[in-house]
Amino acid sequence: MSVHQNTGRVAVITGASSGIGEATARALAADGHSVALLARRAGRVQVLADELGDGAIAVEADVTDRNSIVAAAARVKQELGGADILVNNAGVMLTAPFSSDQREEHRHMVETNLLGAMTATEVFLDQLRANERGDLVNVSSVAGRIAPAGFAAYAATKWGINGWSEALRVELQPDIRVTVIEPGAITTELTDHITDPASKQANETATAELGIPAQDIADVIAFAVSRPQRVTLNEILVRPTAQAM
Ligand code: NDP
Repeated sequence: MSVHQNTGRVAVITGASSGIGEATARALAADGHSVALLARRAGRVQVLADELGDGAIAVEADVTDRNSIVAAAARVKQELGGADILVNNAGVMLTAPFSSDQREEHRHMVETNLLGAMTATEVFLDQLRANERGDLVNVSSVAGRIAPAGFAAYAATKWGINGWSEALRVELQPDIRVTVIEPGAITTELTDHITDPASKQANETATAELGIPAQDIADVIAFAVSRPQRVTLNEILVRPTAQAM
């Protein structure tokens, strides 16, 4: 018998086209949830939805474009009956020494990682409230707790996620549980987009040496949302065993 309870809900996952979002979609679908797979790369989420079969829908959506999130929410309502679980996972990590050269990247990270999560949440909030009980899972980072050089703007977005989630929990619980996930080094496409050569090299090397699969984070998210309603896992820091500090 599965240790997971309360399956069969509707989960919306932002950034489901790769990495942690894709793995989370697989894990939640395996637990019997319907899944709405949101990402900009429509082809990637369509292939995944086809693979997952009944109860999985692919939705082209950009978390920095509120209209696309509103349209996604309408489809989730119409095709799946509304969201019970929202996983705010979409994110970019454009690490570099803090300077004016990176100012567009700073803005892009804030708009995607922090404001994007806020937008998806305010748009889906009525659906989360309307269903019997809701789960909001915000993917933060170990960089929401500690931050080495090069991580200033990225860490600001993840610290922001943590602070926002703390206040949201007070406002939304007990109807909607708020869980923050803080992954350490995970082997995904995240470092592909770094433009600063030294930072890209350092992050790719660290991930190659220490990184664990996205599945390991997906399992934790699936576990958290499967707990009985009386329990909330507020904040979960998940790091590779080899990444002790
Ligand atoms: P990936 O690059 O593999 O995945 C990022 C996902 O975010 C993609 O599916 C991408 O889809 C999506 N995304 C990016 N921008 C947007 C946007 N504007 N609108 C919608 N979707 C968007 O990296 P990860 O899986 O590693 O990252 C997932 C989350 O995990 C991020 O929030 C990241 O900060 C966090 N994290 C990752 C760690 C790691 O070591 N990998 C460690 C700690 C936290 P598309 O391009 O198709 O839109």
